[in-house]
Amino acid sequence: MKDSNLLSILSQMQSPEREEIELVERAYNYVLKAHEGHSRLSGDPYSVHLVETAKILAELGMSGTTIAAGLLHDVVEDREVTLETIQKEFGKEIAFLVDGVTKLGKVKYRGTDRHNESLRKLFVAISQDIRVLIIKLADRLHNMRTLAHVPKEKQERIATETLEIYSPIAYRLGIRKLNRELEDLAFPYVHKQAYEEIKKLLRQKHHEQAETLEKFLRSVKKALAKEGLVKIRTEYRVKGLFSLYKKLEHKEDLEKVYDLNALRILVEKTEDCYRVLGIIHSLWRPLPGRIKDYIAFPKTNGYQALHTTVFTGDGNIVEVQIKTFDMHNHSEYGIASHVEYKQGRSGRDYETLAWVNSLLPKNEGQDLGIKSISSDVPRWIKDLVAYQASQPKNLNLKEQLKSDFLNRRIFIFSPKGDVVDLPVDSTPIDFAYTIHSYIGDHMVGSKVNGKLVSLDTSLKNGDIVEVMTKEKAKPSQKWLEFVKTSMARRHIRHTLSQMRKV
Ligand code: MN
Repeated sequence: MKDSNLLSILSQMQSPEREEIELVERAYNYVLKAHEGHSRLSGDPYSVHLVETAKILAELGMSGTTIAAGLLHDVVEDREVTLETIQKEFGKEIAFLVDGVTKLGKVKYRGTDRHNESLRKLFVAISQDIRVLIIKLADRLHNMRTLAHVPKEKQERIATETLEIYSPIAYRLGIRKLNRELEDLAFPYVHKQAYEEIKKLLRQKHHEQAETLEKFLRSVKKALAKEGLVKIRTEYRVKGLFSLYKKLEHKEDLEKVYDLNALRILVEKTEDCYRVLGIIHSLWRPLPGRIKDYIAFPKTNGYQALHTTVFTGDGNIVEVQIKTFDMHNHSEYGIASHVEYKQGRSGRDYETLAWVNSLLPKNEGQDLGIKSISSDVPRWIKDLVAYQASQPKNLNLKEQLKSDFLNRRIFIFSPKGDVVDLPVDSTPIDFAYTIHSYIGDHMVGSKVNGKLVSLDTSLKNGDIVEVMTKEKAKPSQKWLEFVKTSMARRHIRHTLSQMRKV
């Protein structure tokens, strides 16, 4: 008789082999013992965290090996079980994964601190294998779900780190499901007031729309059934709070955000998508300019669907997303554009997907073609490699980068190749202060990619920035108008006030 926690993991696994079930069971029993008497801040037995992490991994379609490593992920760090023991009990591969997660756990994000490695360097260098990253994401997701139990003073740092590192990484891997949940869990801890406002706004809007949406959905189903389309699934896609926050912050006012509550229609075949679109357009007038065929022209991250926005006839406007079950799975669990920033003096060479390649399991030789990827890799990662293989070299890479997670952070290089990450639109002054306060305080000019620029220039991802200093130079009050980092602002203010005292 298996216990219910173990069963809850096994039942999430997708057609597991007998050996996988045995492996997961063995790991489960092992950690029950190893974490005996060990509890979470919530008061729960520690094993709850491990079971939840394992369940998330199973739901993502990971294999028994990765799930077992997920169960074991805290034994080295928290229970002083040695890696040798893990290797002896569970083999080299699982020991390697547990080791990776342990190492990754030691890295703490410290904003733009110059000793902090850039996101990419950090995660690629340490995780080595994409499964390590995925275990860490699952671990973080459960920690975020239980963040309320963590001491207040730690909550904000952890939530910020989640927004700055983990959720963008999940997005980059195309795991939208994790990305969204991580964002929405972190949001209230990082931007408390905005969170409350958006929540209120959304509740009100939903209240206004609920009835018409319901009516619209019934009419749509009826119309589709009349045309013989019955093997479908419909659902509401409620926009994530954080993604709405970002949208409102950027440009649009709420009245213009039409995808607040979208109706999602899932069908079996691609051709059905176009049939559904035709039926809907014949009954409800579409809003011009909002019909998107992402099936014929997928988004750079691989997303496929038909989108349209229609007048429901009673004063409302609703977005409709139409896709196949397969396409939907992809968009939830991942197929993403993976880009690698190639470090180099030119500063302009982007190399696609080398980053992902470097993360793929390496247990079957050096050649990382599609065939050589071990069966432990879920389908979406194989798809990713297939996707990569199908891309002409250097196609639209800058576009991909723009749409990627890098749209919130940029990587800036010193002429020596040191890399720092900064918020978007940072200036050479921000860069200078990130390197050292002395350099910032004595800055007289700057070259970006070899050209002299003014100090208020907005830096772009991949710029190589050289800072010129003079011993007698001093910061100017004016700088405060355009610097982006609080670090630079703080130093400038401080130095200015020192100068006045003299
Ligand atoms: Mn953990």
